[in-house]
Amino acid sequence: MRKKLIAGNWKMNLTFDEARRLFHELINLKYDSKLVDVLIAPPALYLSPLAIANSSDILIAAQNCHHEDKGAFTGEYSADMLASVRVDYCIVGHSERRAMFNESDEQIAQKVSACYSNEITPILCCGETLEERRSSAHFDRITTQIDAAIKHLKDHQARSLVIAYEPVWAIGTGETASAAQAQEMHQFIRKLIAMQFDAGVADQVRILYGGSMKPGNAHELLAMGDVDGGLIGGASLDYESFRDIIAFA
Ligand code: PEP
Repeated sequence: MRKKLIAGNWKMNLTFDEARRLFHELINLKYDSKLVDVLIAPPALYLSPLAIANSSDILIAAQNCHHEDKGAFTGEYSADMLASVRVDYCIVGHSERRAMFNESDEQIAQKVSACYSNEITPILCCGETLEERRSSAHFDRITTQIDAAIKHLKDHQARSLVIAYEPVWAIGTGETASAAQAQEMHQFIRKLIAMQFDAGVADQVRILYGGSMKPGNAHELLAMGDVDGGLIGGASLDYESFRDIIAFA
């Protein structure tokens, strides 16, 4: 059985004091870490102090990384550097990076490979726009995004992959995919993995739903057979909301 993963993407929010306060509330939260993994993705500046202060089961992720290990890339940081400050996971290809920083499927595939080379587990984001869904192009869009990122992976890498299905029209908008829409797409993504590898690998890949998940809708979404957790933006900044979502997992 796949273990649920509840992941908070803090994006570019919180001062360091606010981040530390929220982190301390979370490390004191009682949850069954045999049943659910809890992860936070703070701003890059705070990764090192939070990771060093982390004596709990909370997992720490970066929100991005560069695909090269080092070099003249002002303002960037690498997967190699993340590993050196004890970061375990890295979000790759978030729709905000695809849209605002023009990240292509090819660059995202390179970042996924860089993560594996440095023993960081990638959380690969995919998702269609509203126009793509309205014109029934959503399955094609997801196929392109997933295939580009997984085609170079080895079986043992793919097994640990985390995918976040995040319809762009549901991120930060208050709109959520229905539980049935999420399940339909998650099942489809699992089939794509099975086609590239095999059913055994596909069965191990955790597929998170992201897009305005909150305590009011988390229960229904997380009850779906192929929804293995959530990638949560806004609601992860509020301790009570995030705690309540974790309790549904
Ligand atoms: C996200 O940023 O990945 C996200 C899902 O944001 P929100 O929960 O705010 O829609």
